[in-house]
Amino acid sequence: MRKLSIGFRLTICYLALFAAAQLFFGAGMWLLLRRSLYNITDDELRGQIDDLTNFLEAQKKNASVAKLQEEVAEAYPLEHSGDYLQIYDDSDRAWIYRADFLQQHMPADGNSGVMTQARYHDYTLAGGSFRFLTQKIEVNGRVFDVQTGLPTAPIAQILVLFRRSLLMFAPLLLLGAAGGGYWLSRKALSPVDAITRTARAINATNLSDRLQKLRTGDELQRLSDTLNEMLGRIESAFIRVTQFTADASHELRAPIALIRTEAEIALRRPRGEADYREALRHILLEAERTSSLVGELLTLARADSGRESLHLVPVDLRGIVTEVGGQWQELMVVRKLTFTQLIASEDILILGDRGALQRLLAILLDNAVKYTPAPGTIEVVLETRGVSAVIRVCDSGIGIIPEEQPKIFERFYRADKARNRESGGAGLGLAIALWIVQQHQGSISVRSSPGEGSTFVVEMPLQLATGSAGSETRAGLAAR
Ligand code: ADP
Repeated sequence: MRKLSIGFRLTICYLALFAAAQLFFGAGMWLLLRRSLYNITDDELRGQIDDLTNFLEAQKKNASVAKLQEEVAEAYPLEHSGDYLQIYDDSDRAWIYRADFLQQHMPADGNSGVMTQARYHDYTLAGGSFRFLTQKIEVNGRVFDVQTGLPTAPIAQILVLFRRSLLMFAPLLLLGAAGGGYWLSRKALSPVDAITRTARAINATNLSDRLQKLRTGDELQRLSDTLNEMLGRIESAFIRVTQFTADASHELRAPIALIRTEAEIALRRPRGEADYREALRHILLEAERTSSLVGELLTLARADSGRESLHLVPVDLRGIVTEVGGQWQELMVVRKLTFTQLIASEDILILGDRGALQRLLAILLDNAVKYTPAPGTIEVVLETRGVSAVIRVCDSGIGIIPEEQPKIFERFYRADKARNRESGGAGLGLAIALWIVQQHQGSISVRSSPGEGSTFVVEMPLQLATGSAGSETRAGLAAR
């Protein structure tokens, strides 16, 4: 089942609360009004008894029952206060006065007994409701049981009127409140609709679009700002990926075109074995380059997807550097380069991935060899500095101009594109090196002057006996 909108649910909650509040308020007011009306009646009944007391006090002290009956009968029927009055002389055990109505509708026996008990009673007599005050009064040494009443029909009428008014206005008020509540919630939530509409329309072709900027200073503004920031991150990731794909296709096109041209030329006319061998050699060379390029692309693509994570275990960096250095020795001799290694005498333990560290060194040494013309020198230094293991690969090669130094770690960046195509670099080596160093919580930087050579410095946290260095976080890249 489709859920109701937040605006609608808010309105229903608001309405339910409002209705409950209205019910409690109405019931409370009704009770209060009833109480007040009864209080007024009670005051009036008390007033009547006070008047009667005064009247009886004004009579002669030893007046007989008959005299009193005569006086009261003369004075009271004329006043309304006598309509529901009865007076019983407790001392002489005789009725002094009984209003006609009471004589007709209230049995005398029953009442004379009840009189001395509770003060106020509600009775239904002759189909009408009444409120009576019963009181014992002592006047001139005589005790009277007095009971006087008032009809409560007007009270009931007022209460009915009040209830009717409440029931008539309550739905109108509720309707108004519902309309107001719905309008308010729609107004408050309308930016959410705008955000939803824009967000729905954003796809790969218009990732640069942003949600409407809100100036409400509340949660909704924070939501739209956060979503915009997220869109920004997604956009730059998307641009990176599409750029990477475009660059990769571009890089792959060149060697494939070369292989194709080489094969076409070879096949154009019959040739001798030597020509075919030469053509195949070129094709093989290009195929090897292409396959190493594909390997590099794959590494970076996996790194981007987060699937390529290194398996870090305590490794001895000394052993790795010595081993890789040894593998390059022969090539240095062929290239007429002087190769020296200055390696610390003690073990240098770091949390690392052996294969990745070998690759990192191979990238740096490969570059050093590629960009150092003979007769040059290449030096590898391994030492510790504080809590870091430091590898330096220095060469006396062509160097890098300062403006290009921060860029060489970017993907597909080549300082001298024409020259690098010849030597086979696609500009991915240092990007992979940077990723490996970052995976080791380390940093890589370069110091170089054109014509004088370059020094690449890699720093990685040492695996100390306590193991604390392994968790240290460092800047990924500090190119100088
Ligand atoms: P490539 O495969 O082109 O060598 P890298 O990412 O390894 O790609 O290097 C990027 C660029 O940095 C190179 O094209 C080169 O211009 C420059 N570079 C790297 N190492 C050196 C170095 N030792 N000496 C001079 N330039 C270097």
